[in-house]
Amino acid sequence: MNVLVINCGSSSLKYQVIDSDSEVVLAKGLCERIGIDGRLVYQPKGGEKEITEASMPTHTEAVRMVLDALVNPTTGVLKSLEEIDAVGHRLVHGGEKFAASTLINEKVIAAVEECSDLAPLHNPANLIGVRACQEVLKDVPMVGVFDTAFHQTMPKKAYLYGVPYEYYEKYKVRKYGFHGTSHSYVSKRAAEMLNKPYDSLKTIVCHLGNGASICAVENGKSVDTSMGLSPLEGLIMGTRSGDIDPSAVEFMAKKENLSLEEILNVLNKESGVYGISGLSSDFRDLESASKEGDERAKTAREVFCYRTAKYIGSYAAAMNGVDVICFTAGVGENDGRIREGICSYLGYLGITLDENENQKRGEEAVLSVPDSKVTVLLVPTNEELAICRETVALIK
Ligand code: AMP
Repeated sequence: MNVLVINCGSSSLKYQVIDSDSEVVLAKGLCERIGIDGRLVYQPKGGEKEITEASMPTHTEAVRMVLDALVNPTTGVLKSLEEIDAVGHRLVHGGEKFAASTLINEKVIAAVEECSDLAPLHNPANLIGVRACQEVLKDVPMVGVFDTAFHQTMPKKAYLYGVPYEYYEKYKVRKYGFHGTSHSYVSKRAAEMLNKPYDSLKTIVCHLGNGASICAVENGKSVDTSMGLSPLEGLIMGTRSGDIDPSAVEFMAKKENLSLEEILNVLNKESGVYGISGLSSDFRDLESASKEGDERAKTAREVFCYRTAKYIGSYAAAMNGVDVICFTAGVGENDGRIREGICSYLGYLGITLDENENQKRGEEAVLSVPDSKVTVLLVPTNEELAICRETVALIK
């Protein structure tokens, strides 16, 4: 079965075509600057990346261009569009309505629309992608895979905020959590790597990318996670502040004469390690700047490690123990010094990293020494493959 996996944002659309039997990526790429000017990036398996500048007034044209590239007689990977058996869409916010992936129909679209006030930047954009695909690939079944679904197993004590209960009842104000597809994929893969039953492990997954979140997975279920109603809560991220005293928000807004919207923009786009360093949200830049003696870049990396270690400690407490800690996503998969920095706080859990193994990047590896009480793993995430698998499971 060939599955087209779509991750649609407001002006971009990432895609992969995966052969679900072999799990090989046949082609991948993205459309950027949709509605502005338009650029298609297309890379067939084993081939060169092609970049085409072309007008894409809407997502429908973007989808058409992707499909044209896929069936292009010279560089395409499909003979015809009939070879696309299903489409898997990444959908960000399913609220409390979706605890699992689902076949997309009009009722589902309406329910996702209802969740849009919880994710005004993401859900409408995701649905534009769904509509564009429906327009072009009329009868092909489509599946929605939600970032929030995996965390719907969290108990009430983990997801309730300490605010008036009526706000939960009336507006569904609560912790939802994100990166669920990644946390689910990585925690399952960890159990496979260790040859242990998934439903017998206490695992903490550290998804450390530009957006970063941690998840406590107990017996195969998410029991707590660091992102909240929105992806702003929790860890210090590339440009997001993570946890902050709400009173500080009002204080800063008043001092800087900013509206609520403007200060939230600062917390989302100008904060995190970028805000602290004043330099970059990219951990590679921060590392080279630290080496050259830039104190703020060094502090930004320290704050990131410290906050992450504190969350790991709190999730070890929440589960009354931890068997496995996994590092994944851009920073988690590549930055051994950050992993070392985080694990330097975790000696009390009986964790000892293997210095040589911890040099590894982007490949599955056991990073702790054999007699470490908690096993530390590097598990590259693969959200597209997880979406493909969910899609196939529902179509079949
Ligand atoms: P992601 O959001 O998972 O794509 O992660 C993107 C982030 O990963 C980048 O902003 C970098 O901070 C970080 N990253 C990617 N490659 C490396 C690397 N080789 N070393 C350190 N950090 C990296």
